[in-house]
Amino acid sequence: MDNSGDKFDVIVIGAGIMGSSTAYELAKRGHKTLLLEQFDFLHHRGSSHGESRTIRATYTKNYYVGMVMESSKLWQEVESQIGYKVYFKASQFDMGPSDDKHLHAIITNCESNSLPHQILGRREVSEKFSGTIDLPENWIGVSTELGGVIKPTKAVSMFQTLALQEGAILRDYMEVSDIKRDEATDGILVYTSNGKKFWGKKCVVTVGAWMKKLVKSVSGLVLPIQPLDVTVCYWKIKEGHEADFAIGGDFPTFSSHGEPHVYGTPSLEFPGLIKIVVHGGYPCDPDKRSWTQEVILSSQKQWIRERFSGLVDSDGPVVTQSCMYSMTPDEDYVIDFLGGEFGKDVVIGGGFSGHGFKMAPLVGRVLADLVLTGEARGVELKHFGVGRFEGNP
Ligand SMILES: Cc1cc2nc3c(=O)[nH]c(=O)nc-3n(C[C@H](O)[C@H](O)[C@H](O)COP(=O)(O)OP(=O)(O)OC[C@H]3O[C@@H](n4cnc5c(N)ncnc54)[C@H](O)[C@@H]3O)c2cc1C
Repeated sequence: MDNSGDKFDVIVIGAGIMGSSTAYELAKRGHKTLLLEQFDFLHHRGSSHGESRTIRATYTKNYYVGMVMESSKLWQEVESQIGYKVYFKASQFDMGPSDDKHLHAIITNCESNSLPHQILGRREVSEKFSGTIDLPENWIGVSTELGGVIKPTKAVSMFQTLALQEGAILRDYMEVSDIKRDEATDGILVYTSNGKKFWGKKCVVTVGAWMKKLVKSVSGLVLPIQPLDVTVCYWKIKEGHEADFAIGGDFPTFSSHGEPHVYGTPSLEFPGLIKIVVHGGYPCDPDKRSWTQEVILSSQKQWIRERFSGLVDSDGPVVTQSCMYSMTPDEDYVIDFLGGEFGKDVVIGGGFSGHGFKMAPLVGRVLADLVLTGEARGVELKHFGVGRFEGNP
């Protein structure tokens, strides 16, 4: 089917988790929606593929805590729409040196948001997590109930299925090469590199690690969004201890603050393996990836050996996967109007800085609100504006 030349209420560009959740929100509200993707649907060349993303409300910046609490409810609502699970609950455990300022900010934010939490010392941690986690004497841990794993590829597929059911049109192999104001109709023209042209009253751009490139070529605006190549590592749990680290028991999703900054999820996607990742990566061009595996730091191996009581083989990961973060300088999202000749008719959502997935249902709602009404319900967007980079890139 060729929808070139068709007219839409909103065209969404980029079918990762943010574009897919936005397309669902728009179609659900009765708007004629087109979702365009440059590669295959559910490809693994962006940021939304794979088997696990953490959901946690333990943020050092207070404004994200309420957003996660809201998003957690929305994940459950959308799961009940589709009828299968994408969100596997677990507790969340943050740990680090007792004087770590990030950990203290997390505790303060738990308190101010009435988020139930427990502050634990070494012995209590060992008891709570059946001896799997061993903290040094001068470390503390914070345990919160709101945690768990979201299945990324399955969640993207879920939003795309729901969007289709609500009447959205989805097209892959449509690389958007230009977006223009159509002066004659006051709409937006979207051009693809294979010669198609689509008309929309409005447009949402959710192109992940390609955001800086596309926005610059369309409007000249230079957004400081830097793609990073990140290696996700899975490590083998020692024989006989697999069940201790599995989801569904007491083992939590976790973050370790200080150096190295490590996070991970209980064993779920590969039986007997656990995901343990160092937060960070290498600057990359999303169109020229090396696909080589990042060097595993000796500090990561030492962390695994010591924190997991010698129960996880720290010689090296047995499975690795590549993914991209889209980093902003302050690690806050970019959710705003493109402005200029596009005014409020083109909205951008990007720069999710390695912590966007958990917020996808909420971001979809916010992007739909913004493009349809010019404002977002219930979410303060002042931290996410493009204006914050002006004169301060
Ligand atoms: C290793 C790793 C671990 C992470 N862990 C967590 C976590 O635990 N918790 C959490 O909350 N978040 C996590 N994140 C972050 C989260 O996955 C991302 O914030 C989120 O997936 C970003 O989604 P997106 O839709 O913005 O980008 P993408 O998924 O990259 O989607 C953008 C889409 O736009 C398409 N596109 C680009 N240019 C064009 C064009 N010109 N025309 C048409 N289509 C185009 C791309 O092909 C792509 O499909 C993690 C990310 C990584 C990489």
